[in-house]
Amino acid sequence: MEKIKMTTPLVEMDGDEMTRVIWKMIKDILLLPYLDLKTEYYDLGLVHRNETDDQVTVDSAYATKKYGVAVKCATITPNAARMTEYQLKEMWKSPNGTIRAILDGTVFRKPIIVKGIEPYVSNWKKPITIARHAYGDIYKNTELTVPAGATAELLITKADGSQERALIHEFKDAGIVQGVHNLDSSIRSFARACFNFALDQKEDIWFATKDTISKKYDHRFKDIFAEIYETEYQSKFEKAGIEYFYTLIDDAVARVIRSEGGFIWACKNYDGDVMSDMVATAFGSLGMMTSVLVSPEGTYEYEAAHGTVTRHYYKYLKGEITSTNSIATLFAWTGALRKRGELDGNTPLCSFADKLEQAAIQTIEDGIMTGDLYRLSTLPNKRSVDTETFLKEIALHLDALL
Ligand code: NAP
Ligand code: MG
Repeated sequence: MEKIKMTTPLVEMDGDEMTRVIWKMIKDILLLPYLDLKTEYYDLGLVHRNETDDQVTVDSAYATKKYGVAVKCATITPNAARMTEYQLKEMWKSPNGTIRAILDGTVFRKPIIVKGIEPYVSNWKKPITIARHAYGDIYKNTELTVPAGATAELLITKADGSQERALIHEFKDAGIVQGVHNLDSSIRSFARACFNFALDQKEDIWFATKDTISKKYDHRFKDIFAEIYETEYQSKFEKAGIEYFYTLIDDAVARVIRSEGGFIWACKNYDGDVMSDMVATAFGSLGMMTSVLVSPEGTYEYEAAHGTVTRHYYKYLKGEITSTNSIATLFAWTGALRKRGELDGNTPLCSFADKLEQAAIQTIEDGIMTGDLYRLSTLPNKRSVDTETFLKEIALHLDALL
């Protein structure tokens, strides 16, 4: 069979530990034999980030801006223990944080559904995608502890020097106070990223805040979403036959549980943080959750939602057999290849990505899976295989489909 050609390169961001091992296996077993794979390679492994003073992370983000599509392996975010383990010059920042800050994106997380791994919520039939606003609120807060007898106020000093103040609380007892902010421009980008993604996926989008209690702050999110929807997206949504729906966060939570899935749930930063953990767990396994960062300019960076699976890596280094789930990392590759194909009008590339996903799902539905899924699967004929055998089994299914 002739290899499928690519015209524009993908930005390839390599990473750390077990996912770095899986990364190479996926390329060797499932991509290079079938594809004339074109990538611009950036090694975001911690060793190389340290060697380049983290410049490689910044360069990879700018390359994503240039080419439009990237695929990223999970990476270590260093802590004190990693400083010694890797003899780091500095405690480098989270690569995802650096990339997100440059691309100004929204993160969409979607579970991969397979027969035999039943969601804990029995009426969920289709995936629920969480769209998380990745700027501001409590993630950029300022906090103080307040002694008894103190008064806390909000004070804004405007560009012309005039001031506006509001009383927060007169503290009879000691307590705490917190200042948070967001930006209209960031909320607008978030809204556009959500609406574009809904059109891309042809799925309804829900958005919810606590605007009944937070009449200025949360209400601003609601108003900006409504304004952008009405002026820029309503007619496109009607043409696509999809819906934008706003409700109170309490109501959204209840409806999500009663729903059958198949929509995008846009969340403010904190709601998205905690709800994505809930949705991922309720659908089954972290190894089955993909993630894509979409920027307002329309660049896409695909990755797995899980980390570098350190515990498995140390077993691997000792020569022990591992059974690490490569599905989310594989779907990061297929997502990126399909998007590259769409942008380049390369139909064979899109169809290869579709078939590779189909082969992966069929493998699991035929009962061949990694240990994490084996523990959850309700299939009668299930069997647990090691990391590499699993990928080779997918290749057999892929050959049959091609
Ligand atoms: P993790 O790598 O997601 O792993 C946590 C545990 O979840 C694993 O020990 C494993 O459980 C299970 N697991 C996760 N992915 C799996 C898979 N594909 N197959 C099978 N089991 C899987 O999280 P972590 O241990 O908290 O973090 C490890 C490193 O990853 C850290 O250095 C962190 O900074 C980094 N990290 C990176 C990203 C990213 O790049 N996006 C995200 C999160 C964390 P068992 O051990 O019970 O089998
Ligand atoms: Mg979280």
